[in-house]
Amino acid sequence: MAEQFGRQPTVVLSDETQRTSGKDALSMNIEAGAAVAEAVRTTLGPRGMDKMLVSGPGDVVVTNDGVTVLSEMDVDHPAAEMIVEVAETQEAEVGDGTTTSVVVAGALLNEAEDLVEQGLHPSTVVEGYRTAGDHIPGLLEEVTIDVAPEDTELLAGIARTALTGKGAESAIDELAPMVVEAVRRTVSDGEPTLDAVKVHSFQGGSIADSRLVEGLMVDREPDHQNMTIDREDADILVVDGPLELSEAETDPEIEVGSMEELDEFIEREREEADRIVGAITDLGADVVFTTEAVDDPVKNRLADEGVFSSASLRDPDVEKLLETTGATPVTDVEDASPEDLGYTGDMHQEVIRKKYGGGSSSPDKTTVITGLDEAGAVTLLVRGSTEHVVDEVERAVEDALTVVAETLSDGRVVPGGGAPEVSTALGLREAAEGVEGRQQLAVERVADALETVPRTLAENGGFSPVDTVVDIRSSHDAGNDATGIDVHTGEVVDTGEAGVVEPLRVKTQAFEAGIEAVNSILRIDDVVSAGDLQTANDDEADDGGAGGPNTNPYA
Ligand code: ADP
Ligand code: MG
Repeated sequence: MAEQFGRQPTVVLSDETQRTSGKDALSMNIEAGAAVAEAVRTTLGPRGMDKMLVSGPGDVVVTNDGVTVLSEMDVDHPAAEMIVEVAETQEAEVGDGTTTSVVVAGALLNEAEDLVEQGLHPSTVVEGYRTAGDHIPGLLEEVTIDVAPEDTELLAGIARTALTGKGAESAIDELAPMVVEAVRRTVSDGEPTLDAVKVHSFQGGSIADSRLVEGLMVDREPDHQNMTIDREDADILVVDGPLELSEAETDPEIEVGSMEELDEFIEREREEADRIVGAITDLGADVVFTTEAVDDPVKNRLADEGVFSSASLRDPDVEKLLETTGATPVTDVEDASPEDLGYTGDMHQEVIRKKYGGGSSSPDKTTVITGLDEAGAVTLLVRGSTEHVVDEVERAVEDALTVVAETLSDGRVVPGGGAPEVSTALGLREAAEGVEGRQQLAVERVADALETVPRTLAENGGFSPVDTVVDIRSSHDAGNDATGIDVHTGEVVDTGEAGVVEPLRVKTQAFEAGIEAVNSILRIDDVVSAGDLQTANDDEADDGGAGGPNTNPYA
């Protein structure tokens, strides 16, 4: 293909190099980006379908969450990756609206393709899209509803909107108020601290058994039966590594010739355990968590000294502990200083029974730490019957936590169900009238692209997309700018009144990020891929799945 462009005077392209320019590059990029959007379109809204993602033997994720679908997908085209990034940014910035942002971006790409085919220059489209983007925040603000922090009902509505359509839906009445309560407990000076809310998933029981727990939960039991877990005002040492005796002491192959040698050996072992435990008690620590194993003689000594220890903590548990107790992890207890200790209030143990676990399963125990220094850590204990269910519920709960926190801090929401998309579209069509020349067409197309959201919500619910959009439009024209689709009946209702609301920022971010990404795709008129460049850059998630090197259909 390179030949057809002839030799460049200054840039010398090797035979390996693939190059696509102009309209070809544009339509190739549009197609790739739009294909990504198409992949998640059917998951949008409460009636959206789930995707099963298979990335290797036994590695299956079933989800309805846009960003999860996209980040698990083996996307191997630069323009497609730009669309995936829209979802990732959306997730990072506002925690919800990921599918929406991608669906809007995909629609914008399709509209752009159409306009370019009609003879508009891509840069005119870019300008028009940007002009539309400038109008969006103002138009959205017109339909904003203010939320008072004490408006529990509305906040629960926000949590519900984020939870619907996910695996969590069956227990939505329990989960929504729990999410609101969890976020509320972390509010200080009017600002929620989302980091203080931990989600602890536990497989076993049903979703409705999920509950809010004061403090932190760590899925470990004490290392020794003589250790008591109940304590107040604990000083916590977190060891990043094991607490083990040096190798000669623990080698099971060691040869012991005589009784004296055995005694000597035991004595040495005792001394070493004493040294380790002595260092710990000298620090003043009375609780020790380690990321790796603790040797038996050390456990015994710790138990004798009244120190609680728990070994082999999982990474997320360690992170939570460090964050909330203020501890600094140490690798060598003999080099540690008292400043490395963290602090907690009460600790106790709770037994969580696997409700439907059958006879053989023993109750699972978990350690609960409360009264933490950095006030207000709460844990949402998320339960579900299988790993897939728990994971999906956890993702949904995390979305709900972010939107509730976002709402408490920003205080502004918009009605859902396609209402803000239609009202913004109507506003844009009006604004387009004042836009000069061909750019006007592009502004109008942004309006059309936004309406893909109600259209898709209707389609996924099994209703006519065309009728739905027409009905919502005429309702808005009649002055009801909070009306959208009720995805269960297909009727046009005041979604704000129905409690289907979303944070304002979810929408502004979704629309703006969609426009921005599409504009950067539209500005590309030359794609030069040099041999392995693409795969060399593909640093993550390449586990030898379907998309190996050079399977890129566009290369
Ligand atoms: P996203 O990843 O964009 O958040 P979702 O699958 O969560 O995608 O769907 C969000 C869309 O579904 C929003 O437009 C929201 O207003 C709409 N929605 C959520 N619940 C309802 C409902 N009960 N009725 C109508 N629309 C709803
Ligand atoms: Mg959502």
